Amino acid sequence: MRVLVVGQGGREHAICWKLKQSPLVRELYAAPGNAGIAKIADCVQIGVADIVELADFAEKLKIDLTVVGPELPLTLGIVDEFQKRGLVIFGPTRLASELEGSKAFSKDFMKKYNIPTGESTTCSSIDQAKAAIKARGFPCVIKVDGLAAGKGVVIAQNKAEADDYLKLVFEGKKFGNAANRLLVEEFLVGEEVSFMVLTDGTRVVPFAPAKDYKKAFDGEEGPNTGGMGAHSPAVILSGETAGEIMKTIAIPTVQGMTTEGRPYSGCLYIGLMLTASGPKVLEYNCRFGDPETQPQMIRLEDDLADLFMKVARGNLIDTKLNWKKEAAACIVVAAEGYPDEFKKGLKVTVDPIDEEGVIVFCSGAVMRDGDMVNVAGRVMSVCAHAPTLSEALRKAYGAASKVHFEGARYRTDIGYRALEQRKQVVGE
Ligand code: AMP
Repeated sequence: MRVLVVGQGGREHAICWKLKQSPLVRELYAAPGNAGIAKIADCVQIGVADIVELADFAEKLKIDLTVVGPELPLTLGIVDEFQKRGLVIFGPTRLASELEGSKAFSKDFMKKYNIPTGESTTCSSIDQAKAAIKARGFPCVIKVDGLAAGKGVVIAQNKAEADDYLKLVFEGKKFGNAANRLLVEEFLVGEEVSFMVLTDGTRVVPFAPAKDYKKAFDGEEGPNTGGMGAHSPAVILSGETAGEIMKTIAIPTVQGMTTEGRPYSGCLYIGLMLTASGPKVLEYNCRFGDPETQPQMIRLEDDLADLFMKVARGNLIDTKLNWKKEAAACIVVAAEGYPDEFKKGLKVTVDPIDEEGVIVFCSGAVMRDGDMVNVAGRVMSVCAHAPTLSEALRKAYGAASKVHFEGARYRTDIGYRALEQRKQVVGE
């Protein structure tokens, strides 16, 4: 079949890499793709938000399946546009992707369907927000309602921090319309884990749990980013807890969305805090995680094209996914200054890597005049797989040091939580 992948990050490179291994995939296209994707797919220069152009392209080339990576085209209604034209596409509709597109909607939804999550108040003015913060006390979590690439959240430890953030949002307009409404939330304490499921709106199939590391710097310091590294398995999650998440969160979410008249199909990403009183939802995403997808694709044994097709056609019957026993890890090499200001157009080089089990996905670089240059803050996703997580991390770190550009940096402690926990459990 002919497959089109919409997106330009490390997640889409990993998806293309896995699709390329499917005997079902005869031709692979990406829009707009990146320097790494261009080595395995035909890249078409259409932006991810140009949904009419994307649908025109898919019609013209008789694309059999389109897979959408990022949230923006989903919340803009790419799935609705494709389905209107009878084109097969993997992802939720505009109404269903509001689970990610509006945190206020998702909070109301969770309350209505008794899905465990932190207490929260939705505010539409600075005065309301100040009153909600005062009532909640510190630390408290302040979030913008709309899309902010994982960067619209602050954990305020005191009034000064909360006031600074409110100023940035309401006066500095840092997040534009995404911040027309704000949420003031209870601060949840525990281990964070990403839990993804594939669903066709009826059946819900869990993906291998992964853990990502969102803070910019070692030791969970600094601002939130899109994600600085990840690994799968997540170690922290037992089979029993995974079962509880399916029963109390994933399945009720999919059923609730159907009841709401917003049937959900595609990948549902549930960001969770494992608190002392059980798993609670931090956020929903309406697509795969980046960088969690990179290690997950490395571990997935099944045919991804077949799976995506089953989901898109509403045919996910009796599907159970198979995963390599090995662990996989991903280290994101980022530009200095990310997630705030950073330089673009920096020349990126990667030394030859001969270690077995290393896979370098391109996150934010394109070819320009014969050179690879960065166009985003997260530049490379350096991954490795091995029988143990510590070995996968060792290999990935060895390879990350081979990526060069001015100001290249990465966290040096990805995986430490899982390794610490493992030490406690098995005494290694
Ligand atoms: P979100 O985009 O809502 O997932 O928030 C981004 C990150 O902020 C999460 O991955 C958590 O690390 C942190 N966070 C969000 N909400 C809370 C909360 N209620 N309690 C503690 N940490 C939170």
